[in-house]
Amino acid sequence: MTGPARLVLATHNAHKLGELRAILVPALPGLEPASVVSAREVGAPEPVEDGVTFAENALIKARALAAHTGLPAVADDSGLSVDVLGGAPGIFSARWSGRHGDDRANLDLLLAQLFDIAPEHRAARFTCAAALVTPDGEEHVELGHLVGTLATAPRGEHGFGYDPILVPAGRDVTCAELAPEEKNRISHRGQAFRALVPAVVAVLGREPRG
Ligand code: IMP
Repeated sequence: MTGPARLVLATHNAHKLGELRAILVPALPGLEPASVVSAREVGAPEPVEDGVTFAENALIKARALAAHTGLPAVADDSGLSVDVLGGAPGIFSARWSGRHGDDRANLDLLLAQLFDIAPEHRAARFTCAAALVTPDGEEHVELGHLVGTLATAPRGEHGFGYDPILVPAGRDVTCAELAPEEKNRISHRGQAFRALVPAVVAVLGREPRG
């Protein structure tokens, strides 16, 4: 039997929802996949993300969702930070080229900006902030990082966003050349959400079960 919704995830992206369920559900005894619902499934509006850090934006999304649903809400915000660009694109990763969510244009612009930067100066990292907010205002945030260097041309077919140009430290393939399970195992998102699990367990342990 499927219980009522007990946890809501602030993602409208089906791929990410699957990824987050895969991390959270096995870690939460008694929680059924169907009781983890998405912002889209509950018809929640998307708030204006006007924070200036990944953590602030993750909290903005989780707060809005907890207020809308009355459920504990989990949200994330993520992006790519390039050392030689002073941490940019950072929170502007999804719209670096000016068009929100145009992954190819964002990646092409970044490569063009870095065309004469030598390999030893191409350090970059993905960061993910994962936030949990309860309807009564309890808040937790965890960060995860995936450190690497930027390739000079895209390689690989998996993943999304800047995956084809980020080569994780100690590897010689890009994130887009990794199998999805391998990327999830080392990713900033996996790390941040696994770190958030104890807080989610504690909060759900206090929630009445349906
Ligand atoms: P958001 O967390 O969905 O807002 O992601 C922001 C942007 O950061 C995405 O549109 C991607 O461009 C980039 N990004 C975040 N995480 C990843 C990743 O795991 N791989 C590649 N790009 C990412």
